[in-house]
Amino acid sequence: MTQIPDTQSAEDFAKVWEETHLSNIPASNVRHADVMKYLSKLREVGVESKEVGRSFAGREICQVEWGKGPTKILMWSQMHGDEPTATSALFDMFAFLAKNKSEKQWVEKLEESVSIRAVPMLNPDGAELFQRRNLQFIDINRDARSLETPEGRLLKQLRDDWDPDIGFNLHNQNELTSVGKTFNQATNSLLAVSGRADGSTYQEHERNRRLCTIMVRALNRFIEGKIGRYDDSYNPRAFGDMIAAWGTPVILIETGGFHGMDESFLIKLNFVAYLTALQSLADGTHEEADPQVYEWLPFNSSDRLFNYIIRGGSIVNFAYSDKPFVADIAINRERRRADQTPPVFVQEVGDLEEHKGLDEYDATGYFVVVKSGSLSIGSRGHLLFYKCDRDINWHVEDLEKVFSADGEFKDGNWIKEL
Ligand SMILES: [Zn+2]
Repeated sequence: MTQIPDTQSAEDFAKVWEETHLSNIPASNVRHADVMKYLSKLREVGVESKEVGRSFAGREICQVEWGKGPTKILMWSQMHGDEPTATSALFDMFAFLAKNKSEKQWVEKLEESVSIRAVPMLNPDGAELFQRRNLQFIDINRDARSLETPEGRLLKQLRDDWDPDIGFNLHNQNELTSVGKTFNQATNSLLAVSGRADGSTYQEHERNRRLCTIMVRALNRFIEGKIGRYDDSYNPRAFGDMIAAWGTPVILIETGGFHGMDESFLIKLNFVAYLTALQSLADGTHEEADPQVYEWLPFNSSDRLFNYIIRGGSIVNFAYSDKPFVADIAINRERRRADQTPPVFVQEVGDLEEHKGLDEYDATGYFVVVKSGSLSIGSRGHLLFYKCDRDINWHVEDLEKVFSADGEFKDGNWIKEL
């Protein structure tokens, strides 16, 4: 350990981010053209970048470089086009490092200890369409063995040519991912990837587990109880596992959701996590971190949360029968950019006592029907509500004109509240 007088706390990093971040539009709205603008802003503050390859459709894929130390760190984001948070956080991180290398002793020390190369937005074609896959419709993260995608080949080449010591594989997970047996959203999930089929550990993997502990402690200042451990089952098609197997142990950071907070909060958390990890490499504090803090994180769960649950309504699926039945309805929202309205779909019908909605509504005493359609899994979550003491003929033409609804739920909002 090296004592450095001006190291910063997680709260300090959060405050700095709030006051000075370079990214200036919601992460999900960032397209390839915005990445190019961010790169030129970084160049203005002295951070170099260069084109290292092209996407399937020919878009430039660029690598940012900072630091001149012996520990080599490779970071890449948005391998999945609709997983944008880390891309913005990386730009904010580099802007911070550039601005503070002559201001903060720890950043000066970091510059001498590490070299960072980062590819923000590895999948620009997918990002342009806000889709997971590239334009061959291959999931790049299942292409580590076949290497049929130019983006996947590039990532392997960047690793093989440089042989970095640590990899950061940066993704977003479903906002409905939860922590263990709780109903807490997993706002971040971490995994120190072993890269060995038997999951065994080794020195560099141990170091990554300690770095995960450092990040968990920092994130706990903001999202305690909302950090999960990503399932570490070995997948020979996945880059996280293979990059570790090829010699660069990987830390996977998945960003989920935090109900009621927008994307900027998630960017800030990533910024805090990266800088806390880097700072611990500069001053050596990671060497004393207890890996158990990371090891004890509950694993992610994926089947406990929905976006919305409408509870206890008397459903009338009158296309088939006028006989009402009592059931909860769960509705989920698809991932979209900040400037789009996400479509919402019925995901589950029945007894949802053991589940939770991020938003829940009590429809007891109301008939519930799907607007101009019938209820099914996958039907649009546009619902009409009628008080149960009303005598409604469900089969009249223009149902809503003849019987005006007492409530209407559309796109996750109440057009008319119950
Ligand atoms: Zn992903």
